[in-house]
Amino acid sequence: MPFRIHVAPGKIIALLFIGLFFVTEAPAADKPSYADTVVIIMVDGLRPDALKQAKTPVLEGLIKRGSFTMKAQTVTPSRTLPAFTSMLTGLPVETHGVDWNDYEPQRGFLKAPTVFEIATFNGSKWGAAFIQKEKLLHAIKQDRRMDLHVCNVSEPGCTAKKIAADVINSYKTSTDSTKPSLFLIHFAEADHAGHADGWMSKPYLKAVEDIDRAIGTLLKGFKELGLYERTTFIVSADHGGHGTTHGTTMPEDMTIPWIAAGPGVKVGHEIKQPVSLMDTPATVMRAFGISDYYVEWKSRSVEEMFEAAIAATPAGTGQPSQ
Ligand SMILES: [Zn+2]
Repeated sequence: MPFRIHVAPGKIIALLFIGLFFVTEAPAADKPSYADTVVIIMVDGLRPDALKQAKTPVLEGLIKRGSFTMKAQTVTPSRTLPAFTSMLTGLPVETHGVDWNDYEPQRGFLKAPTVFEIATFNGSKWGAAFIQKEKLLHAIKQDRRMDLHVCNVSEPGCTAKKIAADVINSYKTSTDSTKPSLFLIHFAEADHAGHADGWMSKPYLKAVEDIDRAIGTLLKGFKELGLYERTTFIVSADHGGHGTTHGTTMPEDMTIPWIAAGPGVKVGHEIKQPVSLMDTPATVMRAFGISDYYVEWKSRSVEEMFEAAIAATPAGTGQPSQ
């Protein structure tokens, strides 16, 4: 039923003042400086130039909404499991020791702490990981605060689309006390196509487009869940590729995109400082606003991408949680 508001003319000026107050004050109060949720999206084998050749409107949107560099570097060797482990531990391969690239349970599991454990221990964050290659299990320790989903990209039905749906469903079905706030989502189809048909081939670029669409589904799901505005999304890759392979120190293998968007992250900013894949975990902690932790790693927060005002936030207004 329609309704009307009756306002006496004398009160209009007063209302205008109140309106002005809300217009100028409300956005600052609403705009969070830190993320409640961080989502790391690892697009296996994504070369930066693939974002130019494939149609990737969703990733383009994230780039416009956030900060990015197309010159980030992975670690050596530029292979999935060693690099993935460096991304989670902030350590070079020779230090974390996971230098093989197959699923070999008899070799044991990673000993160094990962960003999941640090965020859990120091920030009470629960984690969720969705991976498309079993070998990544070497670097993920499953404890009760980790919601782990594994399928193999070579199996029918293990698609980027399915992964995106799984992420949203698992969030919806988890209980309030176990809702994850640190996500790791691994998309392997572009790498798979690169090995089969070549990096930058048509099937490779199509796989990149499928992943872009799945990321779009993910963002839409986060919006519907009311999480989007307080979530930092980080998108990167474990390595690039050339021909039908990777693993060398060639720029085509080593150079990866690194994109971040979310609370306190500069909009439309091209990051100039050198970025290593190893810088991801420190940046995740910085995005959460957690500074009170200790870990021996080589990870450095990509400080340049954060709004300067946040570093100077006065006490009592959104300081890092202790
Ligand atoms: Zn590969």
